[in-house]
Amino acid sequence: MNIILLGYPGSGKGTQAKLLVSNLNYKHLSTGDMFRDEIAKKTQLGEKVKSYINNGKLVPDDVVLEVIESKLKDIGDNVLFDGFPRTIEQAEGLEILMERLNRQIEKVFFFDVDENNVIKRIINRRSCPKCQRIYNLITDPPKNADLCDVCGVKVVERDDDKEEVVTKRMQVYKDLTAPLISYYKSQGIFVQIDASKSVEDVYNQVIKHIN
Ligand code: AMP
Repeated sequence: MNIILLGYPGSGKGTQAKLLVSNLNYKHLSTGDMFRDEIAKKTQLGEKVKSYINNGKLVPDDVVLEVIESKLKDIGDNVLFDGFPRTIEQAEGLEILMERLNRQIEKVFFFDVDENNVIKRIINRRSCPKCQRIYNLITDPPKNADLCDVCGVKVVERDDDKEEVVTKRMQVYKDLTAPLISYYKSQGIFVQIDASKSVEDVYNQVIKHIN
């Protein structure tokens, strides 16, 4: 099954994707993680996308689709698309790419949670720069001060999780990404998840639709 995880930044897509990867052998394709990796490695692509990301803007559709195309070729099925598509143009581009590869998207999980809640989550979000494990300083802090439970590396705040950038990202979501809700509803593959609940509860909701 190929699945899209859709929802506000901070709605829990990445956390659930990691659980599905470790429990069910899914492959996680997060455009945000891919771009951050390119930035860290100071590649040409990283340099190109950096200012968009740090200003809370979307990376242009053609750049995103080119990256996705190169990944899709080798990855096979059972893909979790996290943070992609983010515009109608990207959704249409994905459809064309999948058709060419004789594959399809079977489900779109929409992580429904209100804006104030996600802003609170994002501001308290920290992650391990090494293994990408995500923490929440209030609900799920690292056990040992600010060190990753898995790697022992100091957890960090993403540059684009700073309050002023977050406000911009929320607006971009409303303007450009939210229209995907009716786009996928009309395709009959849309599943609404109550993402205001605990990590475990959200996971159980998701799993019900996969099994
Ligand atoms: P994320 O980790 O999914 O919140 O993504 C972080 C940032 O990367 C976003 O705010 C965008 O600047 C950029 N980005 C990630 N995925 C996409 C995408 N599908 N289209 C455009 N920009 C993206």
